[in-house]
Amino acid sequence: MNCLWCDEEIHVTIDWTTIAMPPKAQPICDTCAEGVQELTGSRCRKCSRLSTKRVCEDCLWWEEYLHGDDSIEFNYSVFPYSNQMQEIIAKWKYRGDYELGYIFRESFLTHYKTVFAKVKDAVVVPIPLSDERIHERCFNQAKMLAEFLPLETKEVLTRVHGEKQSKKSRHERITSNNPFILQQNLNNPVIIVDDIYTTGTTLRHAAKLLKLHGCPSVYTYTLVRG
Ligand SMILES: [Zn+2]
Ligand SMILES: [Zn+2]
Repeated sequence: MNCLWCDEEIHVTIDWTTIAMPPKAQPICDTCAEGVQELTGSRCRKCSRLSTKRVCEDCLWWEEYLHGDDSIEFNYSVFPYSNQMQEIIAKWKYRGDYELGYIFRESFLTHYKTVFAKVKDAVVVPIPLSDERIHERCFNQAKMLAEFLPLETKEVLTRVHGEKQSKKSRHERITSNNPFILQQNLNNPVIIVDDIYTTGTTLRHAAKLLKLHGCPSVYTYTLVRG
């Protein structure tokens, strides 16, 4: 098999251990894997930002802004937004290279098991793309990530206005109308899945809607902490 990123052939060393237990197919070579290191070190318990404090500045800001009434329990992210991650994600999501998502499958599943397995009867809700974006990119990267998890995926959200929020200020983004519509109420705990947590605004819009309509608790699980 060839590396999904650099396309070099992946050599597997055969010794007695590999004969006894054949290695799992590796999606990327060892050299590329060095640029795809998981987040390690002390992190904020609420949002996964690297921080020596228990709760980081960003989250203290949210706490104050929302008067303690946050719509998410916490966010967990697997990878930092390293240069190589930025490149891979850009090619994967913006240039429609679906296969690249498999680079993240094992890590995404492993961390789910350690972080979220205790959340009983949870369902997964991927952040949707607008019809326009789906048309451009052919697939939704959040849905691909959701489907790596051993839970039911419910696509209950649709997007009413576009993703181009980046030109707005933080305040405008937070106070702007909720960009989502809920198609079906869920009474289970929900794990919202997306590729990246940046300010957490989009995820909180989605979470708020779910909670207003019967969902007891919402967690967000993201591939990258931006
Ligand atoms: Zn490679
Ligand atoms: Zn935080």
